Amino acid sequence: MIQMPALFIGHGSPLNIIEPSAWSASLKELAASLPRPAAVLVVSAHWVSPELRVSAAAAPVQMYDFIGFPDSLYKVDYRAPGHPELAHEIAGLLSAAGFPCREDAARGIDHAAWAVLVHMYPGRNVPVLELSLDYRLAYRKWFDVGKALRPLRKKGVLLLGSGNIVHNLYQFTDETDSKPYPWTLAFNSLVKEAVQKKDWGSLASYATPVEASRKAVPTPDHYIPLLAVLGAMDENESARVFHESFQNASIAMTSYIIS
Ligand code: ZN
Repeated sequence: MIQMPALFIGHGSPLNIIEPSAWSASLKELAASLPRPAAVLVVSAHWVSPELRVSAAAAPVQMYDFIGFPDSLYKVDYRAPGHPELAHEIAGLLSAAGFPCREDAARGIDHAAWAVLVHMYPGRNVPVLELSLDYRLAYRKWFDVGKALRPLRKKGVLLLGSGNIVHNLYQFTDETDSKPYPWTLAFNSLVKEAVQKKDWGSLASYATPVEASRKAVPTPDHYIPLLAVLGAMDENESARVFHESFQNASIAMTSYIIS
């Protein structure tokens, strides 16, 4: 089987679920160009836990994990199957690499996953699993988590980090199409350069609010999924941007494909 690419996708506001945009069009186009995945494993910005966990329900519930949005958003149905056997295999791969991982049969699928997958696989027939963010893990270790997941790509599993490279909810504006702040653009470019150079040290350092990332990454949750998918990159592969746009001045929708 050919190796599946790995993806990092910026998901932004839940409104992106129902408002068509260049971003949603890019996801449709991308999905049509990829082999059909056996399953999707989403490293979710919206699942933070005190240990690594993988969702393991056969029929995970769809989580509407946002408040104050239009009613129509809460009616979007994205109930896709889970894959308990694959969850067991994933927990095994991670544990063998020194990252104990718990199979969580109670966990549903949050909008970091379905806000993206509703555009990529609207048929809801590709099994979806999620991996949590263990908040105790040192940021540089996320590359090793990604590395441990590499074998899944050869089995047709689509590894998908869902977050945002710039994600500042304290300074975001009401208008989706607001001009991005200079620091939004600057950090987005800085990350792009570091990804091109495979400068993992700098990329890991930005998860802590250092000078360069203080405004762009005030909390690490939306940034960490990028580190995980970069860790799943083979030596002869590279990451390229397949979509870039900005929303609400302080959100980067920049999305990468690794192949
Ligand atoms: Zn989010």
